[in-house]
Amino acid sequence: MYGYFGTTIIQAGLLVAGILTFGQLTGFWIETALVLISGALVISVWRRNQMYRWLEKRPGQEMTQVPGLWLDMTQRIQKRESEIAAERDSVHQLLANLHQSLASLDAGLIHLSLDWRINWWNQPASRLLGLRESFDKDASLFNLVRTPELYTYVKTGKYDLPITLPSPITSGKMLEYTVCSIDKTGFLLVVRDVTRFTRLERMRSDFIANVSHELKTPLTVITGYLETIIDNDLVSDAGVRAVGQAFKQADRMNSLIKDLLILSQLETTAPDATPQEFQVQDLIQYAIQDADEVKRAVQKQQTQIVMADCAPKTIRGDWNELSSALTNLTANAVRYSHDGAQIAVSFNLRGEDGVITVKDDGPGISTEHLPRLTERFYRVDNSHSRETGGTGLGLAIVKHILYRHGGTLEIQSKVGQGSEFRCVIPADRLIH
Ligand code: ADP
Repeated sequence: MYGYFGTTIIQAGLLVAGILTFGQLTGFWIETALVLISGALVISVWRRNQMYRWLEKRPGQEMTQVPGLWLDMTQRIQKRESEIAAERDSVHQLLANLHQSLASLDAGLIHLSLDWRINWWNQPASRLLGLRESFDKDASLFNLVRTPELYTYVKTGKYDLPITLPSPITSGKMLEYTVCSIDKTGFLLVVRDVTRFTRLERMRSDFIANVSHELKTPLTVITGYLETIIDNDLVSDAGVRAVGQAFKQADRMNSLIKDLLILSQLETTAPDATPQEFQVQDLIQYAIQDADEVKRAVQKQQTQIVMADCAPKTIRGDWNELSSALTNLTANAVRYSHDGAQIAVSFNLRGEDGVITVKDDGPGISTEHLPRLTERFYRVDNSHSRETGGTGLGLAIVKHILYRHGGTLEIQSKVGQGSEFRCVIPADRLIH
């Protein structure tokens, strides 16, 4: 009723008043003080024992007989206990809600320890991977999903992009795995059924490949006839220009079909399982020779293309693909820069990774275009791209080739200050 301090002061006051009164009456001050203090101590020990027994019997026992200070202390303990119980109930409720929400997701979630053992999973994960409550807790992820590609992906430690693999339990189903690292305590594996999406993607690229293929034959025939007309002077003066234009457009269509077929092949076929090994220097030399031909074709004879630094390294990869990627970049540098531009191709190490850079002092590209440059058919200046024989697919092809090698394309450019295209080749593709 008086609180801890109030009760303590009252009790101390009573003790002092008792000592003063009885000391005055009897004249034995020390004896009186000793008797009363001992009495207070005995009562205190007795109450303490009472409280100790009460604490032992907790919870569910009310403590009503203890007066004063002790009552106040027990009431405080009871209040704290009921607060903790309320907090615990709300946390339980929150957890139950969270479990329910996670179960209603269409993605499977699996919490894994640092050594890839399964701690916890939601219902969709059981459905997608066939996890069983009584068997699979603490099992290694790789015992359940016996796909070497998943093991390799997980061990690389690079989880920026998800990996799509066939389902380990249902044939024909495709699953996408995404790993999220949880601050040194483990990992969260997100599994999604992407069968429908993969099928649509496949249909889309098959459609593009088929259309391109079907267009190729009639176009070859048309080009052949146009060539015959031009070569044999089969049209009058007025018709020469028209046939010449038709031939130019047919040629453009041929390039477009060729690039579409390359892109669809890159999308639909698996990367070469047995890559070749070759010198970076040879790759750069090849791209420079090719760019020299582009120089002649687009009449930019004053343009200079040189090999700058080149660390002597061997790359493990697909020569045809990587040379085509680099050729695309050097050809772009020639086509989009002025006659007399300076173009440098180099290879350097960045940490363990290798970086092939194509740098020009051409017109540059303004910042708003940079994130979209690798999209199919995205061009900064449509008319200039067409004039110089561009299809709008070059950088999309480059990005895809690098992706198949585990690498990335970085673009840095400023209007008026030239452009830098960097092909990052991951360390596991370099022979040290
Ligand atoms: P395209 O076949 O049109 O060249 P790309 O995909 O190769 O298609 O390039 C996309 C666009 O990026 C080009 O249309 C051009 O506007 C721009 N571009 C590419 N390389 C350069 C460069 N070195 N300098 C300036 N602009 C460039």
